[in-house]
Amino acid sequence: MNDEEIKKEIRKFALQNAIEHEGQTRDKTILAKILGSIPELRQKVQEISPVITEIVSEINQIPLEQQQKEIAEKYPELLQVEEKKPEQNVLPALRNTEGKTIITRFPPAPNGYPHIGHAKAAIISEEYAKMYGGKIILRYEDTNPGTERLEYYAAIKVGMDWLGIQFDKIEHVSDNLENLYENAEKLIKSNDAYVCICKQDTISKNRKEMIECNCTKRSMEENEQMWHEMFGEKKFKEGQALLRFRGDMKSGNTTMRDPTLFRINTKKHARADQKYRVWPTYDFSGIIFDSNSGVTHAMRSKEFELRKELHHNILDKLGMGKAEFVFFGRLELEGMPVSKSALKPLIEDGKIPWYDDPRLPTLEGLRRRGIRPEAVRKFILSLGLTKNDTNSPFATLEAFNKKIVDPECVRLHMVSDPKKMKISNFEAREITLANHPTKDLGTRTVMVDDVLLISGSDAKQMKVGENVRLLGLGIVKITNLTDQIDAELVDDSEKAEKKIQWVAGKDALQIKVIVPDLLFINEEFNKDSLQTHEVITESAYSNLKDDAEIQFVRLGYYRKESSHQAIFTHK
Ligand SMILES: [Zn+2]
Repeated sequence: MNDEEIKKEIRKFALQNAIEHEGQTRDKTILAKILGSIPELRQKVQEISPVITEIVSEINQIPLEQQQKEIAEKYPELLQVEEKKPEQNVLPALRNTEGKTIITRFPPAPNGYPHIGHAKAAIISEEYAKMYGGKIILRYEDTNPGTERLEYYAAIKVGMDWLGIQFDKIEHVSDNLENLYENAEKLIKSNDAYVCICKQDTISKNRKEMIECNCTKRSMEENEQMWHEMFGEKKFKEGQALLRFRGDMKSGNTTMRDPTLFRINTKKHARADQKYRVWPTYDFSGIIFDSNSGVTHAMRSKEFELRKELHHNILDKLGMGKAEFVFFGRLELEGMPVSKSALKPLIEDGKIPWYDDPRLPTLEGLRRRGIRPEAVRKFILSLGLTKNDTNSPFATLEAFNKKIVDPECVRLHMVSDPKKMKISNFEAREITLANHPTKDLGTRTVMVDDVLLISGSDAKQMKVGENVRLLGLGIVKITNLTDQIDAELVDDSEKAEKKIQWVAGKDALQIKVIVPDLLFINEEFNKDSLQTHEVITESAYSNLKDDAEIQFVRLGYYRKESSHQAIFTHK
């Protein structure tokens, strides 16, 4: 490549980058791009740096429209829509799939709002079902009366619908406890389960010391009778009797030390009301339902790995089929905890109004913030099927979201802490602005007279005598900054380093923007994590549909929540 060709290449990169950033590009960005594209230039950074600086400065001084025109004329290929590459399959193949219809399941407990961790389990299960032309079941693991609420069942379904997951079947554990009872009786009859009436602390102590309690010595007939007594109200109250699996109290695997299969819970159940008082634990209901529903592959978070031995043991005793277990690590977003123990107190203290708060990694919170479900899916799949726990920065999810929303979101001007600018020689006229720098999203026409509003932060940096480009309008020279900002329109061929957005005084619309930030910084609740500002935008905001994503030029992406409120999505 000769010098001319290199210069041409630099100019191309600079133009491309400038139109993606409201007409402004930067030396560093272009240097990185050119070194990435022409590796041999890495030896010549000293020589090409000044060339880049010169070209970047040239480009920054021409208006965005002219930059776009030059690209359209010289490099039309840059404006073409990127060809879609087939999505790469990042999930590893499953074992034991031959000759089977693959069935997976997502078994949430309806005891809270679904969050990013649920999304991971559901999406991985669905992707595998799709990969093998199989089926997926949504199973409400609703066996804890007192913790379930109808609104949580609904929130899970709404969250799954939002993620675009279509279940082939929906089941509720609470619909078929009878079958679980039958299986429990089989275990009692084969002497693989017994009723324990010890106190909870005795049970814990015995587990720790690997000692069997006296309850293990009762006969099968006695156990059968006591099991039946657990269903009546006369003998046992809540917490007074358990059905335990006869595992191995001496096992190195603590989950094998005679775990609980059923316990008495007399609280009112959200769906079954008071129909049942003996409720299974997840150790039991999960695997029996999997087996009965023909689940071939059960995706589970890796904390269940230790329980595999127990679960196989129980199924073996019952002679029931086993699903293949596939384990994966937990997913959280940095500074955005999902655990109920972290979130509940914040909600009870009123520090967070509700689970749909845009600071939260709940599906509802992410949706309100403007995160797209496709971005959640791509983000999750990009992590692969690792068993490592992931504590990902929000920025990673943000990057996936940006790629999806950017090409389809309209640009608007917005100014905060507005300051009035009066342009002495401006004749009132209609100005047409493009809704997107590169995509055809139409234009908008704004009536502009000599009064504009600009952001306080831009105003602060202005100096008398300097030229400033008002994006899409022209270049003005600042003539006075004492009590108000006065300016005069100058020729478009003049130089202007600064490019700022503005709103026509006659077109101003006041809205509120909500700006969420990290909920926790270094494990501490961030009390400034939600800011609200009154800002001024263009009246064209009113024409957008609720839920539309917008880019406020130079400020970032926002979701229109209502006619008077937008939520900051990300930069
Ligand atoms: Zn006992």
